[in-house]
Amino acid sequence: MKEPLILDGRKVSEEIRSKIKEKIDSYKERGLRDPGLAVILVGEDPASKIYVNNKVKACAKVGIKSFKFELPQNTTTQELLDLISDLNTDPEVDGILVQLPLPPQIDQQEIINAINPSKDVDGFHPQNMGKLVARTEDGFIPCTPLGIDLLLQHYSINLKGKDVVIVGEGFIVGRPLTLLMLWRGATVTVCHIHTRDLKRFTLQAEILISATGVPHLIKEDMVKEGAVVIDVGISKKDGKIVGDVDFEKVKYKAKAITPVPGGVGPMTVTGLLLNTLKSYERRERL
Ligand code: NAD
Repeated sequence: MKEPLILDGRKVSEEIRSKIKEKIDSYKERGLRDPGLAVILVGEDPASKIYVNNKVKACAKVGIKSFKFELPQNTTTQELLDLISDLNTDPEVDGILVQLPLPPQIDQQEIINAINPSKDVDGFHPQNMGKLVARTEDGFIPCTPLGIDLLLQHYSINLKGKDVVIVGEGFIVGRPLTLLMLWRGATVTVCHIHTRDLKRFTLQAEILISATGVPHLIKEDMVKEGAVVIDVGISKKDGKIVGDVDFEKVKYKAKAITPVPGGVGPMTVTGLLLNTLKSYERRERL
């Protein structure tokens, strides 16, 4: 059986991150300040802690200074708004990231709306989401869609005129990704929990992207021969990290496929680093 091309998010990330580091090093040599990212974690969710630590480590490696704020589980919306208000005007902070999900007592949309859109490196502020609709380059594209776009570009997978099927229309991935894929000229079908007969749609995909968090939702018989398969999902099954795609079986049908872990995950963090650098360069007029 033919082995597919593995879309290696770790390797591609390394390449992009070393270019980011080179740029930041050159700015530092010119005596400029360090780029800065504020990362806010509320509560004790173990997965969120891992994600935040990964982001902080990745920042350090490329020369971005991170400011980590760990707030207790019972933090109120007002307390978080006060912190964001300080960070919005802090000249050392180029990006503000609030790790989602937030505890239930906090109004998530109110928090996102309070972030200065020019520091919203996650790209979730309505102004940045709107720029994705308007297709203006000066906004921030949410990190996972941005990372997927860069991964496809790296492997010269052209999107123009392609049939792209996205499974999942979540706020963080599916919805902004739909807009980005349309921007790139793809014909996009979006499926979700209420879609009847998912397979009817997935079988049409030249590029199939799944972002549901349902382990192994995408089976071999749901994938067209020769498709490119991008797996965004991260969940646990039998103590192992798995994606939305039944990788071991689907890989023989796919022309190219992302692994989990090591595919979209590292590219998401790379997207965050790029957005932070973009914000820094804009603030420093570089
Ligand atoms: P979400 O809960 O906001 O959205 C999930 C989407 O999946 C919804 O649109 C829902 O309708 C759809 N869905 C659920 N069950 C389905 C089913 N049986 N059939 C079809 N559609 C179904 O989640 P999210 O924040 O978009 O995250 C999705 C997954 O992606 C999670 O596993 C998350 O951990 C992962 N994720 C990974 C990265 C990364 O860097 N790799 C980044 C963000 C999110």
